[in-house]
Amino acid sequence: MLKLVTVVGARPQFIKAAAVSRAMARQDGISEIMVHTGQHFDANMSDIFFEELGIPAPDHHLGIAGGNHGEMTGRMLGAIETILIEEKPDWVLVYGDTNSTLAGALAAAKLHIPVAHVEAGLRSFNRRMPEEINRVLTDHVSTRLYCPTNAAVKNLADEGVRDGVIHVGDVMYDAALDARERARSGSDILVRLGLEPGRYSLATVHRAENTNDAASLRAVIAHLEKVAAERTVVLPLHPRTAQASARFGVSLKALKVIEPVGYLDMSVLLDGCVDVHTDSGGVQKEAYFHGKPCVTLRGETEWVETVEAGWNRLWSASDYKQPRQPIDEYGRGNAADLIVSNLFRANT
Ligand code: UDP
Repeated sequence: MLKLVTVVGARPQFIKAAAVSRAMARQDGISEIMVHTGQHFDANMSDIFFEELGIPAPDHHLGIAGGNHGEMTGRMLGAIETILIEEKPDWVLVYGDTNSTLAGALAAAKLHIPVAHVEAGLRSFNRRMPEEINRVLTDHVSTRLYCPTNAAVKNLADEGVRDGVIHVGDVMYDAALDARERARSGSDILVRLGLEPGRYSLATVHRAENTNDAASLRAVIAHLEKVAAERTVVLPLHPRTAQASARFGVSLKALKVIEPVGYLDMSVLLDGCVDVHTDSGGVQKEAYFHGKPCVTLRGETEWVETVEAGWNRLWSASDYKQPRQPIDEYGRGNAADLIVSNLFRANT
């Protein structure tokens, strides 16, 4: 029996872990222990994803949220170490680029437990982003590095990381395909919000660089207000952005602000929108998965292929690259299966 400990804590990780957990359930001989650090804890930022996506309930819930980055990561590190000593897994599986990712990877590496990193190799080359620090460090202590794109493989090679690097495609594409199918009958969000397909834009804002100071938040909201002069802009409001707008007195009244939504509702909102305006990593790609153009509200993107293929542009760019092209490297919706069979082979 192959025993894995999966460490998750934040919204995008629940979505990625759901795809991989489903693939694990299809494979005999794997036992998965789920650790939730508690980084995201609101019902609509956490519980809804476990319920809707059928993620196994956490075996360990650490309840660690808030505080500065170092403090949060440190508390997680200690708590995860205790669990790993008790559980003695063959592998620790971590996702993406949050403090939970780094804490899980570091705790495992120090106990000589091999780490598998899903969504390895992404780089913004902006070391002021907390996510960039988390990714670089996690990649450098990982044994298996599952890359979503060719650029990710190259980034790792440029840093001298070649062993254990595998391009499997993007587990978020697997997740998007699954959600799209189930959302058809499982979401009435457009009716609830009084929205018509093809008549609104979808926006998300949550990155530290856009919410840490008043001027940055004002600039992002001013961009969205310009879009709102043309059509309704729907903004599922991330708790961090809600706090920032209250703290800095930045009005959101030009926008249709809603509570964060579940993944099936998000899939329907993506399907019906004209375009997407976001600083999220995941949502940039989901725009492409749903055939919608995206404006990225940041100075750089890790998902460079979306820009190259003409589906995405940085908000500083005046236009999209032409012609618009399909992107092959995200795979065929089987990235999670490739990860699970690779991990399984590694241990047999
Ligand atoms: N998402 C969601 N509900 C929302 C906003 C986002 O389900 O109200 C999903 C979104 O579709 C994507 C993921 O959350 O799959 C992205 O998470 P986030 O933007 O928080 O993180 P990032 O991708 O930037 O790491």
